[in-house]
Amino acid sequence: MERYDGSVNICATVVPNIGEVDLLTIDFIRMKKHTHFLDPRKNFQETVIESEIRVDPLTQSTGRIAHFSKLDFPAIDVEELSKQSLAGGFCPFCPNNVESVTPKFPSDITKQGRFRQGEAVVFPNLSPYDAHSAVTVVSRNHLVPMQDLTATRLTDALEASIQYFRAVHQRDKHLGYGLINWNYFPMAGASLLHPHLQVFATDTPGNYLKLEIEGSRAYRQQTGRSFWEDFLAEEKRLNERYLGDTGSVSWVVNFIPFGFIFDVTAVFRERLTVLDLTHDDVFSFAQGMQPVLRYMQDHHIYSFNLALYPSATPEDDVWVHARISARGSFNPAVHAADVGAIRHMYNEPFAMFYPEQVAEEMRPLFF
Ligand SMILES: [Zn+2]
Repeated sequence: MERYDGSVNICATVVPNIGEVDLLTIDFIRMKKHTHFLDPRKNFQETVIESEIRVDPLTQSTGRIAHFSKLDFPAIDVEELSKQSLAGGFCPFCPNNVESVTPKFPSDITKQGRFRQGEAVVFPNLSPYDAHSAVTVVSRNHLVPMQDLTATRLTDALEASIQYFRAVHQRDKHLGYGLINWNYFPMAGASLLHPHLQVFATDTPGNYLKLEIEGSRAYRQQTGRSFWEDFLAEEKRLNERYLGDTGSVSWVVNFIPFGFIFDVTAVFRERLTVLDLTHDDVFSFAQGMQPVLRYMQDHHIYSFNLALYPSATPEDDVWVHARISARGSFNPAVHAADVGAIRHMYNEPFAMFYPEQVAEEMRPLFF
């Protein structure tokens, strides 16, 4: 990847209703920093190194873009990794085990014990995260490389998970936040290689979604408008990180990635809770995942996290969105984690690549 040499500061202004309300602003604030030192690589001549601090327009959280190494990772042998993952043990999610070693739901959730759609199967999590907590196994195959995460497989896994949320909602007359997340492959935190989603309903949405809700509510209070509608309009107008639409879903590369490589967000337009999602919405999302997965494969990126961020009620004012965060290693030769002190101790995202450059490369794959 070449070094990005685009514009320095973006202060965009959205003016949807001049005369009716005050000027509304969605600002993508970028602060360039310059470090001077005498460079041993250039015979100790003075050199200037650039880095950047960004401020998220919704949460006002900061993040850093720096270092700018090449987006170039070594290939790994996923077949070998799969063999290792099965050596000396067994996989509870493989078809010959899943029926006997995974729990079943009580009959007031489903009389069938588990939810199924296509290859996907949903069962209670033996190690729950909340009162309603499940696991969705995505495939019958133990090893599913990225090229085999087809739109059908992804749709079935997500819709099976939503079936579970509908049953919880029907029984309790309450769901809360329907959270779905995925650690795909070990570098994203997967302890089992067999692809599976974590699915749970909760009234405690987690710190980040809480910040998004507070930001969205504040934006509505100040402007009378949806942050998400204005955000997408502004990303499309700037056309720096916007990737395209698949049906009812709009795709952008995140202004501040959580991971050190890149994040992509898919916004389900005008959908608030997870129960609002239709088959077409989910399939449109699964279709849009294909170019993102292709981009990762092209760059030898083998792991990602995926999380769904929904509202619990319309008052939260957050449009359902999914975020995909590419994961890897700072130095694969020594198995260095991709989360260091800046991210872990200061809770400050740090990325090595300009999101605008990633978007420029990924955008052609969307059309
Ligand atoms: Zn398995």
